[in-house]
Amino acid sequence: MKIGFIGLGNMGAPMAANLAKAGHEVAGFDTAAPTPEGVTAVASAAEAAAGADVVITMLPNGQILRAVADQVVPAMKQGAVLCDCSTVDVDSARGVAEQARTAGLGSLDAPVSGGIGGAQGGTLTFMVGGSEADFGTVGPLFDIMGQKAVHCGEAGAGQAAKICNNMILGVTMIATCEAFALADKLGLDRQKMFDVVSTSSGYSWSMNAYCPAPGVGPKSPADNDYKPGFAAELMLKDLRLSQSAADSADAETPMGALATRLYGSFVEDEGGRGRDFSAMLPHLAGKNRT
Ligand code: NAD
Repeated sequence: MKIGFIGLGNMGAPMAANLAKAGHEVAGFDTAAPTPEGVTAVASAAEAAAGADVVITMLPNGQILRAVADQVVPAMKQGAVLCDCSTVDVDSARGVAEQARTAGLGSLDAPVSGGIGGAQGGTLTFMVGGSEADFGTVGPLFDIMGQKAVHCGEAGAGQAAKICNNMILGVTMIATCEAFALADKLGLDRQKMFDVVSTSSGYSWSMNAYCPAPGVGPKSPADNDYKPGFAAELMLKDLRLSQSAADSADAETPMGALATRLYGSFVEDEGGRGRDFSAMLPHLAGKNRT
């Protein structure tokens, strides 16, 4: 296939490289990042989109996605599919889908889970909103960039799944960190705590796969001085997306709201910016109850 790839950052570059390695013709554009091996650098988003069967975007947020869609949609050939893999708000995802539909194009919102390691290894999970036909067109590309693609429903359903998943992640990470901080104060060894909880009803991905305590459980950013991994400010971005979606859908999400507030002060006032989101553990462990 002929593919246009826009946004060649931490995630986009390895995803585009994997498509090129699999034999697809990939034209890439980014305003700052270098072009990975195997991908042809072009001078604009519109140039990347021209003549492509599928255009993939991997951009920082919904505002930038909308601006890029304004350039890309008029340049795409009829029947081609615009597939956004960024994490953005549901309203932007639906807006871009409508813009594409009006122009005679297909579109998918297809955010990912699995981080930079998953992008490099081609093991991402895609959660996808859009039509069955467009999902079928892009499916072979999801198979190269990832190990699983779930068709979640119509436009916006992929972003809805992503922000619900990450709201759970933010809440369980804080719960896991505060349990370790409490265990410390109760004199309970962290390794013993892991041994019990990881095989008991308090287990979660945050405890079992991404343990926030250094030297405990499988290797995680905690073992690398909390260098991200998944930065606290990206967790905050996703939690804020969950809360604006909850506001517009009139949904009650008290734990999501509290997690948003806690990551907000961690990132903005308490030194969390640039650290992994699991650094909530040393932050809480260093505090006394006020
Ligand atoms: P990044 O900042 O490394 O990459 C974004 C790229 O977009 C940058 O290279 C930037 O120069 C480029 N860009 C910005 N404006 C542009 C424009 N107008 N035209 C072309 N390029 C432009 O971010 P990332 O870590 O690759 O994340 C990308 C998306 O994936 C985000 O929405 C993020 O939330 C999501 N995501 C990230 C991870 C992760 O672990 N990093 C995991 C899952 C999802």
